[in-house]
Amino acid sequence: MSSTKPKVYNFGAGPAAIPLNVLEKAQKDLLNYENTGMSVMEISHRSKTFDNLLNKAKQDLKTLLQVPENYKILFMQGGGLTQFSAIVYNLLAAKRQQVPGEEFNPPLDYFVTGSWSAKAADEAKRLYNNVNIVIDVKKSKGSFESIPPKEEWKLSGSKAAFVYYCDNETINGVEFPFIPEVDPSVPLVCDMSSNILSRKFDVSKFGVIYAGAQKNIGTPGVTVVIVRDDLLTKPKSVNDQDKGVPVVPVMLSYKIIADHNSVYNTPPMFPIYISGLVFEWLLDQGGVEAIEKINNEKSTKIYDLIDKSKIYRSPIEKPYRSRMNAPFRIVPEELEKEFLTGAEELGMVQLKGHRSVGGIRISMYNAITLDAIDLLINYMIEFEKKHN
Ligand code: PMP
Repeated sequence: MSSTKPKVYNFGAGPAAIPLNVLEKAQKDLLNYENTGMSVMEISHRSKTFDNLLNKAKQDLKTLLQVPENYKILFMQGGGLTQFSAIVYNLLAAKRQQVPGEEFNPPLDYFVTGSWSAKAADEAKRLYNNVNIVIDVKKSKGSFESIPPKEEWKLSGSKAAFVYYCDNETINGVEFPFIPEVDPSVPLVCDMSSNILSRKFDVSKFGVIYAGAQKNIGTPGVTVVIVRDDLLTKPKSVNDQDKGVPVVPVMLSYKIIADHNSVYNTPPMFPIYISGLVFEWLLDQGGVEAIEKINNEKSTKIYDLIDKSKIYRSPIEKPYRSRMNAPFRIVPEELEKEFLTGAEELGMVQLKGHRSVGGIRISMYNAITLDAIDLLINYMIEFEKKHN
């Protein structure tokens, strides 16, 4: 059999590189999963075999992130974007339980620190009429380049139904170096699509954490949601619904998905299976703490090179630079095309910046090895020598 060693180094932002061990295991399992004589994509989602697979994946994620007992781990569909809506529905319903009575119009607080949180805030505004922007960095600074200090935040305090932020802005390369401090009675909601499992953090600070799988977890098609028990509310129908509280569609209801152990309908079985393999792989690497050290080393090497260079420029202020996605420009910009072509010739692919910002972007998720980063660094040094 020919080797499955990939022929390229994939620096894509997502769908992104998957650890080679995981791909090889999936290849082995593809035709005959656990002696069922069938592929994992063919077994019944109600079978004991799938139940075991799902529960093992959940348990391993729980171990990796030290998820407390009062949280549920859900595997949902619809990607990160579906969660932009799901959080609004679920958390307004949860807030309603705390604030009964006639008047109900709590603000939803959004930090806008990049393109994805901007998009999430836009969806909230589309669904609901009281969205409060805590900060909008593009408006205040002209571009998404930092996170302003606490004194500039306009939080709504205990009135808010939730406070939302995106921990790592995949397109702009801005990452929170801290967890924002908010009123302890208000659930903190976090989009960790592009940095979950890349560093240690305290789950108990959050009401809801979600992450699309296609970066640090596995393949597109499943979204991991970690939600605190007190935020699970039974969805009502329009006949018994409170005025001002939108009805939660069943497939978006955290309570329904949790009560059915993520198998309310046919779940995305293959993506869940791959996620499980990635969790096992990460545990074998020594878990989140061990990978965090490597991630820090990788991104430090990249940013050190950029800062020393005369032709590479990072647009992001140092404390807020993402350890996962490093967007940068080459001066003059005409060199960017040549840079990408040269990288591709050496087997380093998907380095093009997002179409909305241009330039180059190095995505260095957990599956990107230090060797791959060293190869890229050598190329960047040689490229600069040629053009300096
Ligand atoms: N949030 C972040 C931080 C993302 O990077 C992305 C996608 N790259 C999304 C949300 C949207 O995810 P999806 O495409 O799975 O809907």
